[in-house]
Amino acid sequence: MTSNILIIGGGIAGPVTAMALREAGIDSTVYEAYDQTADGVGAFLGLAPNGLHALHVLGLDEQVRSAGFDSPDLRVGLTREKSVFETSFAGTRSDALPPITIKRGDLYSVLRDEAVRRGVRIVYGKRLVDASSTDTGVVARFAHGTTAEGDLLIGADGLQSRVRNLIDPTAPAPRYVPFLNTGGFAQGVAVDLPVGTTQMLFGRRAFFGYAPAPDGSVWWFANPAQRKELSRAELDAITSEQWRVRLVELFKDDDPLIGELIRATPVIPPCWATYDFPSAPRWHRGRMLIIGDAAHATSPSAGQGASMALEDAVELARCLRDLPDHTRAFTAYEGFRRERVERIVATGKRNGSQKGLGPIGRALLPLVFKVLPKPRLDWMYDYRSPWSEPVAV
Ligand SMILES: Cc1cc2nc3c(=O)[nH]c(=O)nc-3n(C[C@H](O)[C@H](O)[C@H](O)COP(=O)(O)OP(=O)(O)OC[C@H]3O[C@@H](n4cnc5c(N)ncnc54)[C@H](O)[C@@H]3O)c2cc1C
Repeated sequence: MTSNILIIGGGIAGPVTAMALREAGIDSTVYEAYDQTADGVGAFLGLAPNGLHALHVLGLDEQVRSAGFDSPDLRVGLTREKSVFETSFAGTRSDALPPITIKRGDLYSVLRDEAVRRGVRIVYGKRLVDASSTDTGVVARFAHGTTAEGDLLIGADGLQSRVRNLIDPTAPAPRYVPFLNTGGFAQGVAVDLPVGTTQMLFGRRAFFGYAPAPDGSVWWFANPAQRKELSRAELDAITSEQWRVRLVELFKDDDPLIGELIRATPVIPPCWATYDFPSAPRWHRGRMLIIGDAAHATSPSAGQGASMALEDAVELARCLRDLPDHTRAFTAYEGFRRERVERIVATGKRNGSQKGLGPIGRALLPLVFKVLPKPRLDWMYDYRSPWSEPVAV
């Protein structure tokens, strides 16, 4: 029986896995590379009904929802006045919780605070550099020379996962998706859009989205195209004011509201390059397994990365709860998860590739949305983590 699990990564998947394991009667410790305050400033994300349901299973949905706001509705268009597509992201099930929008930092801190309140140990400043798995246990080695021993090691260490490479040194690198992400929180701009609706616009040169928040601010994101991959250092070298000038220029021929929102944003963080990770050949070896972005990162265009990480956490704990042999538990977990998450990553890639429309694409867009059947995404939103069902292999 597994009793002591080392979880590498204190982002989303790590603390939630630790809480799910506690529900399953299994002890674990989370090791996070950074200090507690290193969460992404200026970023926000959407949690879908499937992700919220995974939180609900662990009694975490109310805390998380109260740190964000409900955002069920989406409008997509070339202009604000005329949508080519309107939808609600609830899925078809009557038990669906409405999707929410939440600041990344708020989501991370709610999850970590709740994990600590429930007795999970989270150790900061522990960057995993190496690990080895034997017949009886696993040893993790951290930068600065400290070690930890456990029965199993779970890599919840994100897109650039070290655990993924320890499991499979030939694993491919994350795939670059040729657009950047930035965004912010505009103050004092009135937008004619109800709270709960997100408006997305295909601009002439880049994609833009915004959503009014209950406190009167307007949360927005932009996706400038970027063919050549830039390093983190290259992106960080561009100041907030330089990003502002670039973005205002990029959207100068689009709806003036976009420029207004960009100008009314106190700080514009450096852009993030976009990556996804379509398929890791190996998810586990010996006593080590990867979950969340470490195993299957999707580009933000799917709006599902965090929700998949939450589903992973619940499903892994269920497998370890019901299958005391870890190899059987890891194999069952992969069997339940792989097809679904890889399909979502492929959907995210497809959505992202439609963001950078040229003049012809823009001209054809209304027609395309009119004649083509609406994409069915219920399979993503309708998924429910089967926590109360025993694992049947
Ligand atoms: C711009 C942007 C927008 C997004 N929008 C959305 C959205 O709208 N909806 C959505 O669902 N998802 C969205 N995502 C994706 C979502 O953020 C990720 O899918 C999610 O954070 C994955 O959770 P995780 O726990 O697997 O990884 P992370 O949240 O990245 O956490 C990994 C943790 O591991 C730590 N770590 C890394 N290496 C080590 C090491 N060697 N040792 C110890 N610790 C380590 C990191 O510091 C980090 O804290 C977006 C992502 C980006 C970049």
